Amino acid sequence: MCAAVGALEDDPLFNAGRGAALTLQGTVELDASIMTGDGQAGAVAVVDRARSPIRVARHVMEATPHVLLASPDDALVEAAGVELMDPDYFVTEARRRQLERILADEEAPLTHGTVGAVARDSAGRIVAGMSTGGISKQLRGRIGDTPIIGAGTWARDGVVGISCTGDGEAFIQGAVAHDVFARMAYGGQSVAEAASSTFAAECDTRGSTGGLIAATGDGSVLLCHNSAMMLAAFSQDGETVTWV
Ligand code: ASP
Repeated sequence: MCAAVGALEDDPLFNAGRGAALTLQGTVELDASIMTGDGQAGAVAVVDRARSPIRVARHVMEATPHVLLASPDDALVEAAGVELMDPDYFVTEARRRQLERILADEEAPLTHGTVGAVARDSAGRIVAGMSTGGISKQLRGRIGDTPIIGAGTWARDGVVGISCTGDGEAFIQGAVAHDVFARMAYGGQSVAEAASSTFAAECDTRGSTGGLIAATGDGSVLLCHNSAMMLAAFSQDGETVTWV
């Protein structure tokens, strides 16, 4: 899971790691989280030097007594085995131009996006994780749903692993990832029923858009979104299926 998310963090085309969306001040502030289905979790927020925030989140989970660290210090990033970069490394020319367009035109749509992955092994163990630069023009210090366990990410062995993308404030207000899990675990809904009920109740009612990927304890996978588009891929036994 971390290898998949880490590759997307390195790819400047995605809103995570290098190529992330820029804050109002033109800087990058990255968020990431990981949760394993046995109930462990780690997350980081407002990261500006770690090349791979998802790997720092994993380190928080595995090597500290904490769940969420904001502005993790350089020593912790190095202890995680993650390269420290100059903050300029994350800022691409395309994102600079995009921010200029957004600042010049009040009506210009804000850009956002998150990269995420959910994995289930043959023993049914599940892990979910995600990484993002947030929303373009966001205020300094703004933290979205990505590092908030239960909002953007959730995993429970035997039930489901979920990784979300979309309007982070609504995903926090609606505890979206946990709400999908709860509808399945306590309400007996299928993952598809649960995800569409959660989107209707928590996102549509707020006028918010987004999507999620999920893998269930019994091996099914789901892509659900109320946004115009969402890209995802699914791989099992060496065969890969791409959803657009
Ligand atoms: N959920 C992310 C955030 O609010 C952005 C996105 O996924 O589109 O930071």
